[in-house]
Amino acid sequence: MDDLLTKNLTCKLCGHEVETLMARKSKQATVKTDSDFCVHYENEVPFYYNVFICPKCGYGFLENFKDPAKKMKEKIEPLPEDLTGKRDNQLAEKAYLRTLECARMQRESDPVMASLYLQLAWIYRYRGDEENEKTMLNEALGYYIDVYEKSDQGDVSKVLYLIGELNRRLGNNKDAVFWFSRLVNDQNCSQAMRHRARQAWQSLRE
Ligand SMILES: [Zn+2]
Repeated sequence: MDDLLTKNLTCKLCGHEVETLMARKSKQATVKTDSDFCVHYENEVPFYYNVFICPKCGYGFLENFKDPAKKMKEKIEPLPEDLTGKRDNQLAEKAYLRTLECARMQRESDPVMASLYLQLAWIYRYRGDEENEKTMLNEALGYYIDVYEKSDQGDVSKVLYLIGELNRRLGNNKDAVFWFSRLVNDQNCSQAMRHRARQAWQSLRE
C-alpha cells in the first residue's frame, strides 16, 4: 500500500466527506511512454485515481469541476461498487465512465472532456481492447479540435500535436499530415512538439 495515499475531500454534489485512495505519482516506476503521452507503469497506475467517486451519492468528479446543479442528485445513483479503494483496470473504467457521465451532464469544458476521454482510451489500451480504445480516442480528438478552434491565446503546441497523433492512431493519415504540418510550420509553437510532429509525419511517409 506504500504506493497509495489517502486523500480527504468533500463531494461537490452532496457534501459527503469522502476518504479515497490516490497513487503517489513520484514513487511510480515507469516502463515506457507512448506517442500520445500514455505512461506505462510497473505497479500502481496513478491516472486510475485521477477521478473521484462519492460512495454516498455516486457523483464522479475532478477537483476543478464546476459546482454541479442540485438537480444532478435526481439523475444519478450510487454505484454498486465502492470506488474509493484500490482500483484495478475494471474499477478505473467504471470510475471514468461515471465521471464522464457527470461531466457531460454539467457541460464541463473542452480541455477537461478531452483529457478524460484520452485517459479512458489508455485504460482500454492497457487491457488490449482496441475497439473501445479507438472509440474514446475519437471522442478525445473531437474535443481537442474544439479546444484548438476556441483558443485565442496560450500555447497550443501540445493540442496540435495530439490532434495529429490521435488522427494517426485512428488511421486518418491525411488528417494527421494536415495537423502535423500545421504544427511543424508554426514558428510560435514549441521546438519539442514540432520535433515530435516532424518525426511522426516522417513515419507516415515511410
Ligand atoms: Zn456525494
